[in-house]
Amino acid sequence: MIPVVKSLSVEGAVSSSADKFLTRRPSQEEAEAAVRTLILWAGDNPAREGLAETPRRVAKAYKEFYKGYGEDPHHILDRVFEEVEGYGDMVLVRDIPFYSHCEHHMVPFVGKAHIGYYPAKGVVGLSKLARIVDVYARRLQTQETMTAQIADMIEEALEPRGVAVLIEAEHMCMSMRGVQKQGSSTMTTQYRGLFRDDPAEQVRFFTMVKSPGL
Ligand SMILES: [Zn+2]
Repeated sequence: MIPVVKSLSVEGAVSSSADKFLTRRPSQEEAEAAVRTLILWAGDNPAREGLAETPRRVAKAYKEFYKGYGEDPHHILDRVFEEVEGYGDMVLVRDIPFYSHCEHHMVPFVGKAHIGYYPAKGVVGLSKLARIVDVYARRLQTQETMTAQIADMIEEALEPRGVAVLIEAEHMCMSMRGVQKQGSSTMTTQYRGLFRDDPAEQVRFFTMVKSPGL
């Protein structure tokens, strides 16, 4: 018989954005029971040898896939370097790889993010921009929402003269199911400040993103 979770036990405090929806985090056992249910739903026997440890592994993998819920992007960008020696041109970090899951099917979408901004108040360490992408990618997402969240966060933390975010990704829910369009990619952009106001800045950003690498 499939174990049905009737009451959720308390296992530690639920942090960050999950607070609003969840007062009690399911236990490890409850998460594993849910995975066994899905294995049965797929048509296999969760008790067979090859699958016996799978619920435990999946629960562990989920902690990593969705660790962005427990991370605060404000905290990552809290250190702004104000001394930039007069540098005011565009800072561009391109080809930031990410792995996310679509919120409609919980299937991966995988791609690259490119972030450009014109510093005003200051700059952040370049690796911080990659971490911001990761915080939002490691949640249930749509590519559109994630693009806007990254742009909003950089705008809020750095108060730049402009910020541009371009994301390119392949969605497994398109490749593996439904229309099965393998190899198609989806591109989303968000422009703020002078990137929004001046189309020539959008062209410059796009040209730099797409120029041959080093
Ligand atoms: Zn999907």
